[in-house]
Amino acid sequence: MDQRHVEGDLVLDETLFTEEEILARLKELAAEIERDYAGRDILLVGVLRGAVMVMADLARSLDRHVEMDWMAVSSYGSGTKSSGVVRILKDLDTDVSGRDVLIVEDIIDTGLTLSWLITNLRSRGPASVEIATLLRKPDAVQTEIDVKYVGFDIPNAFVVGYGLDFSEKYRNLRCIGTLAPHVYS
Ligand code: 5GP
Repeated sequence: MDQRHVEGDLVLDETLFTEEEILARLKELAAEIERDYAGRDILLVGVLRGAVMVMADLARSLDRHVEMDWMAVSSYGSGTKSSGVVRILKDLDTDVSGRDVLIVEDIIDTGLTLSWLITNLRSRGPASVEIATLLRKPDAVQTEIDVKYVGFDIPNAFVVGYGLDFSEKYRNLRCIGTLAPHVYS
């Protein structure tokens, strides 16, 4: 669906990125990834459920073979702020030891989820672990986490669309928009 299908909700404050802008940026990131991983196999690890769209489009933008696997973790108890408590809901099916792992994320906010995930994956003995995220919020820039591929740095607002939800809605919105604060406050 696109913007006109959610207009009745009166909740999308502003479109931050159109589908075309997202795809163009992912294509640029894919070119960087192809360069950096030349001659090496890549295991893309998508973080469910938000990263589904990013994973699908980033993987298809890569003009080379990749493997894909998925993890589901829960970091949000409720509401819109990270709880810092991470639980594995679905683990990888792939043995990552000796593999070049590229984590594919939708958004990094506090970075709590990701730093937990990196520590967890590193403990399994991979050759490397890097991160690609479509969106990054200001707090994440200040953390120690070294994010190799960033689509867009965005302001500190709650965003939905392109895989990102609010109460499981808006994931299938083609664009990314900010949600009006009255909806979640
Ligand atoms: P962190 O642990 O970095 O604070 O949070 C990461 C997770 O929180 C993301 O994978 C995503 O599920 C959720 N999240 C963080 N910011 C937003 C946002 O602006 N919109 C939505 N829909 N989810 C967010």
